[in-house]
Amino acid sequence: SRYITITDHPQGTPARELFELHETELAALADGEVRVRNTWLSVDPYMRGRMSGVKTYIDPFELNEPLQGAAVGEVIESRDPNFPVGAKVRHMAGWRDIAQLPGNQLEPLPAFEVPEQAYLGVLGMPGMTAWTGLNRIAEMQEGDNVLVSGAAGAVGSLAVQLAKAKGGTVVGIAGSQEKLDWLESKGVKAVSYKGKNAAQLTEALNEACPEGFDVYYENVGGICLEAALNNLRVGARIAVCGMIARYNEEAPSAGPGNLAMILIRRARMEGFIVFDHWANYPAFLEEVGPQVASGQIDYEETIEEGLERTPDAFLKLFEGANRGKMLVKL
Ligand code: NDP
Repeated sequence: SRYITITDHPQGTPARELFELHETELAALADGEVRVRNTWLSVDPYMRGRMSGVKTYIDPFELNEPLQGAAVGEVIESRDPNFPVGAKVRHMAGWRDIAQLPGNQLEPLPAFEVPEQAYLGVLGMPGMTAWTGLNRIAEMQEGDNVLVSGAAGAVGSLAVQLAKAKGGTVVGIAGSQEKLDWLESKGVKAVSYKGKNAAQLTEALNEACPEGFDVYYENVGGICLEAALNNLRVGARIAVCGMIARYNEEAPSAGPGNLAMILIRRARMEGFIVFDHWANYPAFLEEVGPQVASGQIDYEETIEEGLERTPDAFLKLFEGANRGKMLVKL
């Protein structure tokens, strides 16, 4: 089995040299264990937090041990009757080509007619996050005006489509022309944050939706949050999903100077971790699965090929190089 490790905890943006590729001989399967040939690996922004060596809501990665993350693959050897050879599964032993783990750490893939890697993206953790943040945390109502930052990424690209299906004006913030074009093709008003300061972004959001927003779906932080706060309607709700602009910061920066807009607009801002809501995953699949299978909901993927490219795929998340879900194909 080949796998990837980190040799040290990164400071700031992780250096490519921190990642190492290793090879090991796997032991014979113990009773209850399964061997999986991974076909797709997920790289996600939250992995940056796990590289810091500090426990947050999830354990940190151990140095010089295989990194972990979502993966899908096919069972190639099995001592668990629930997962016979040939079964398609999802599990958390990513960042490697062959995974060996107890059968109780595997999930069978649901049966929608979608490519298997969709269960790492639009019908996996990022999709579940978008649906939970919008419906359960921000409590989006019919006709609400919704603003989404990181709007063309894995989470954001589903959030804008779900919002559009029952919303008023939906505005997405993203960082490249390609992403802005994709958003516009979905009927989403697209605003770039690149080269803008908070005042200019405030103005651009105001132009896109002069009435202001009932919901802000926060993926980025920094000036996106600052500009969003200036464009809230009374009673607005902010789902704090992530703040990727801050993950590589070496020293904490001051928060938006206009947090008092929460008070002035009597808004609610609430953080959430998708894992706390996982009991709702079947309800999410039941609602969104058929729409993805029928093409009513679109999803984008950006694919790197080969296990050795996994660190590059991960680092590209912080450069905005992905549209939709960033994946590694083995
Ligand atoms: P994405 O597919 O959105 O990839 C990351 C994107 O973030 C990039 O493509 C880039 O897009 C944007 N970005 C990166 N760095 C910056 C920066 N400095 N400033 C502004 N934008 C930046 O990732 P995901 O959809 O997987 O995750 C989106 C957010 O959701 C993250 O904050 C993540 O941590 C969070 N999350 C939270 C979960 C929870 O349980 N709360 C679960 C899953 C994800 P662009 O070109 O537009 O800049």
